Parts: sequence; C-alpha cells; structure tokens
Amino acid sequence: MSDTQFDANCIFCKIVKGEIPAKKVYEDDYAVVFHDINPQAEVHLLAIPKRHIVSTKELTDAETETIGRVMVAATKAALALGLDDGWRTIINTGRIGRQEVMHLHVHILGGSKVLPAMV
Ligand code: 5GP
Repeated sequence: MSDTQFDANCIFCKIVKGEIPAKKVYEDDYAVVFHDINPQAEVHLLAIPKRHIVSTKELTDAETETIGRVMVAATKAALALGLDDGWRTIINTGRIGRQEVMHLHVHILGGSKVLPAMV
C-alpha cells in the first residue's frame, strides 16, 4: 500500500504497517483483524481496513468494497477462533458514539459467556 493511504500519527495504521506489535488473527489485502489490547469479553477482536478511514461518518460509495471486506475478515477471524455460537459486532462513530481511536474499526466480542443484553 502507498503511504498516502496511511496516517502517520494513527496507532492502527502503525499496527497495519507492523510498526507496533499486535496479536493479529487474520490479514488480507484490505483488512487486518487483531486482539484488542484491553479486552471487554473473553474474546475481543478489532477488524480494521488497512487504508486509513477515520470512521463510518467518512464512508462513501468508494469504500463499499473495503468495508465489505472488513466485515468478511471479521467473520473469518471469529470463526477461526471458534466463535461458532456467535458474537457481537459494534462500531463506534465519533464523539457521541464514544469512538476513541480515529481509524474505523469493528469490535468483535465473543467467547463462551453469553453477553449481556444491550438494547
Ligand atoms: P473505540 O472506543 O475507539 O471504539 O475502541 C478503541 C479500541 O481500541 C479499544 O477497545 C482499545 O482497547 C483498543 N486499542 C487502543 N489502542 C490499542 C493498541 O495499541 N493495540 C490494540 N490491540 N488495541 C488498542
């Protein structure tokens, strides 16, 4: 990937580039899936586009394939880790959505314990 597709100050871009370590579960040309550093469930993964996209607020028609690939990567990683009974996916967007890392990411939460109801 070209440098123009990364943000030099973004921690998740650094994970994509291998500049900081992460426990990667899955990687292809479009997406990376790795373990969250501060897990909120027995299994807590993050699926991200390799290209720097700030949040779902920035999505346009041009990102249709990329975002689809991120979701498929999330499924491949979840199934590779044996989450056959299911999992929860969460995407936080912006301040109201409590997004802390400004590189679009999909949380994948699972494990043997059924997660509490949210809505
Ligand atoms: P957000 O609140 O933005 O939706 O979630 C960001 C997530 O990224 C948090 O769950 C946080 O634990 C995780 N995170 C932040 N920095 C790092 C890091 O350097 N490595 C990994 N693996 N996860 C991180």
